[in-house]
Amino acid sequence: MEYQTHDHDVLVIGAGGAGLRAAIEASAGGVSVGLVCKSLLGKAHTVMAEGGIAAALANVDDRDSWQVHFADTMRGGQYVNNWRMAELHAKEAPDRVRELEAWGAMFDRTKDGRILQRNFGGHRYPRLAHVGDRTGLEMIRTLQDHGIHQGIEVHMECTIVQLLVDDGRVVGAFGYERERGRFKLFRARALVLATGGIGRAFKITSNSWEYTGDGHTLAYDAGADLMDMEFVQFHPTGMIWPPSVRGILVTEGVRGEGGVLRNAAGRRFMFDDIPDNYRAQTADNEEEGWRYTQGDKTARRPPELLTRDHVSRCIVREIKEGRGSPHGGVFLDISWIKERLPHAAEHIKKKLPSMYHQFKQLADIDITREPMEVGPTTHYVMGGVRVDAETQMSTVPGLFAAGECAAGINGANRLGGNSLSDLLVFGKRAGEFAAAFARQAPKGAIDDREVDRAATEALAPFERGAGGEGPYQVQYALQELMQNMVGIVRNDADMRRALDCLEQFRERARRVGVGGHREYNPGWHAALDLHSLLTVSEAVTRSAIERRESRGGHFREDYPDKDPQFGAFNLIVRKTRDGGMEVSRAPIPPMRDELKTIIETIK
Ligand SMILES: Cc1cc2nc3c(=O)[nH]c(=O)nc-3n(C[C@H](O)[C@H](O)[C@H](O)COP(=O)(O)OP(=O)(O)OC[C@H]3O[C@@H](n4cnc5c(N)ncnc54)[C@H](O)[C@@H]3O)c2cc1C
Repeated sequence: MEYQTHDHDVLVIGAGGAGLRAAIEASAGGVSVGLVCKSLLGKAHTVMAEGGIAAALANVDDRDSWQVHFADTMRGGQYVNNWRMAELHAKEAPDRVRELEAWGAMFDRTKDGRILQRNFGGHRYPRLAHVGDRTGLEMIRTLQDHGIHQGIEVHMECTIVQLLVDDGRVVGAFGYERERGRFKLFRARALVLATGGIGRAFKITSNSWEYTGDGHTLAYDAGADLMDMEFVQFHPTGMIWPPSVRGILVTEGVRGEGGVLRNAAGRRFMFDDIPDNYRAQTADNEEEGWRYTQGDKTARRPPELLTRDHVSRCIVREIKEGRGSPHGGVFLDISWIKERLPHAAEHIKKKLPSMYHQFKQLADIDITREPMEVGPTTHYVMGGVRVDAETQMSTVPGLFAAGECAAGINGANRLGGNSLSDLLVFGKRAGEFAAAFARQAPKGAIDDREVDRAATEALAPFERGAGGEGPYQVQYALQELMQNMVGIVRNDADMRRALDCLEQFRERARRVGVGGHREYNPGWHAALDLHSLLTVSEAVTRSAIERRESRGGHFREDYPDKDPQFGAFNLIVRKTRDGGMEVSRAPIPPMRDELKTIIETIK
């Protein structure tokens, strides 16, 4: 079989914030670096991030500190986070943001010229460094500008389909060019996975076509552990109308700027259900909530800024109990602030320019004058590759992971803004330690038969031809299944049925065929994505069956309460020798006393 070969010390798979930051750091470590991405450089998911980067810079509220950020992240994650990662993240995020600024990133500014920070759900103080609602674009632009001067070799529009392993350690990767269909073989001493999320396993999602759980699957197939796969985040506010835009994100920044949620009767229903562990931090009344959004340090946050898992469930309750909006969501209203602010329309357009254009162009709604209709959308996966907190190395030597495809920092639920800071903090660490690994690792041997097998498998859909079932039918059926059976509200019976269906879909995936040839063939790409989609869907379902409690993003109607026994471990997913999927429990190591005291004192 013919293929081009490329040699790098470190190969980074994925060019979002985590991949770019890892590549920059690995390159600074003096090794040769290759960077592969499925789409064009600069088009990764990170570019879509709107609200901002969470970092305790304390520019807007000097009561903020790494300790408060750490306590917020642990509370948000319902204490099953990898506490060491949460600690490193809270401590290092401010330096990573300042570094980005030094590399040329523009931020909105306070009156005295410092980086402005905004309120976001679950963060006690205004903490998100931002540029209007286009922060991800600025982050990618800056990292890309910085990265291209480091001598990183970029391989765009190339999808990796398999990692190559020699004697238990990864030594390379095999993939294809999306345009021409030609195969590529990458040899490397160390690899960093930075492939983002799994949102496309669900029907309603804010994620773009690229997020089919490839990195999770590549790691799992190479023998690495996955962790926390039951924890999928359903963001409370996605667009719901018109149907063609269903799922597109409406940033939490809208609520941070004073937007409120109302049901069909006009009631601010979020005041009706405030969890006990957030009661002390949450406003008692609408007036106090408004003052908080305007920077009054004596006020507590409005309940619209409770964590995403909770807000999503309250919205689902309103809809199920018949108090939803005409198209099956609830109302999110920022236009009401005209009652409080002079020039409110200009203010909204300045703070939320993308939201203004998104609704105007896609739904013909002027958000400065009327409410939006919103509902939950699959947004983020807390679960991913199990990594060491300091180095980001997985359980397979030489294989590192960072960003959304790695697990640990977020526990059962991620706070908004904590992803962009995660990418910078742990992207840097992954790059640094991958370079260190590569410097001392000998070149591994590539098994040609393994490469040939991967190529034959990739071409199998052509052998079967276009006569049989197409890949999209299987993909749609899987997305429908995951949305309905393993979605926001779960139960044992549905999930067991889902497992049976997934097995049938696997059979169907083995039979799908495509026509045409390897050049510009999206049907072929969709056929190859099915393996990842099926693997992550099974991992989510098996883990969700095993966690017989409700915690964070994982809600079981048959076990609606949190069970302290389940708070003592994470769930691990591993491939068995015979190719089956096994779920086991890994006890959470005891937290250092100093960190326990922080959590106990910052209530
Ligand atoms: C609309 C939206 C708004 C958001 N807003 C915020 C926010 O304000 N703050 C915040 O903290 N978080 C936000 N998030 C979440 C955050 O943007 C993501 O979690 C984060 O950007 C993920 O970054 P990453 O580097 O891990 O991966 P990504 O940016 O998702 O990049 C993944 C890369 O991997 C590549 N890739 C994938 N599979 C393969 C393969 N098989 N072979 C080769 N390459 C591959 C892709 O092409 C891409 O280059 C938002 C998410 C969305 C969707």
